Amino acid sequence: MRIDVVTLFPDFIRDSAALGVVGRAQERGLLSVHGWNPRDYATDNYRRVDDRPFGGGPGMVMLAEPLSACLAAARAADPAPARVIYLSPQGERLTQAKVRELAARPRLILLCGRYEGLDERFIAREVDEELSIGDYVLSGGELAAAVVIDAVGRLQEGALNHADSAVQDSFEDGLLDCPHFTRSDLAGTEGVPPVLLSGDHAAIARWRRQQSLGRTWLRRPDLLARVTLGKADRALLEA
Ligand code: SAM
Repeated sequence: MRIDVVTLFPDFIRDSAALGVVGRAQERGLLSVHGWNPRDYATDNYRRVDDRPFGGGPGMVMLAEPLSACLAAARAADPAPARVIYLSPQGERLTQAKVRELAARPRLILLCGRYEGLDERFIAREVDEELSIGDYVLSGGELAAAVVIDAVGRLQEGALNHADSAVQDSFEDGLLDCPHFTRSDLAGTEGVPPVLLSGDHAAIARWRRQQSLGRTWLRRPDLLARVTLGKADRALLEA
């Protein structure tokens, strides 16, 4: 998969995408992340990428022309069809289901706004969809783009060392994940649920499912209301 990011801070995108699972996915050739700076496509002497808004008021707006030229260059860098996404607080809220959908695409181009955002005519002409990472306002789209790159990158086949681990994560089956414990030199096995030390894999699986259901019920009842529970799950929830 290829992800191109149109941003005034391409170094931030390149540096963050070189770390951890996403960095490893790039090293393994499963993903490639590229930054494109609209300033490199500005045509005036000051390399301007923003201007005052029509109608007056505070803040600046990102100019359509450098963005269009930058996006065209990014598109032309690879023949695969690209979905163009503007990271925006006004977009559809990002969910794990959406991340799965994006992860299956061959190519994404992410647009990061700054200031008051992008000229609306550019959005209408070039953007396929707008995505928000939550109901709060960041000063730029780069952190939101890094969130999309991380969430999508870790789902590329071979990116995680254990293929199953993504499937067990929160939201994958509509529920929150169960709690996890590991060895501790100081506390030993104190506080660890005995079933996890039993070696009984069926009992461990039952306990994990029950914890997952219970946590979701306690912390995110809205999620539980959206999943259809089978007889076995209902029994675990009521136990
Ligand atoms: N004037 C815009 C509004 O109120 O809708 C906010 C502009 S914000 C200061 C600058 C840029 O940060 C946006 O163009 C967008 O790219 C990014 N941004 C801010 N909050 C975001 C969020 N919750 N999700 C995704 N991107 C966000």
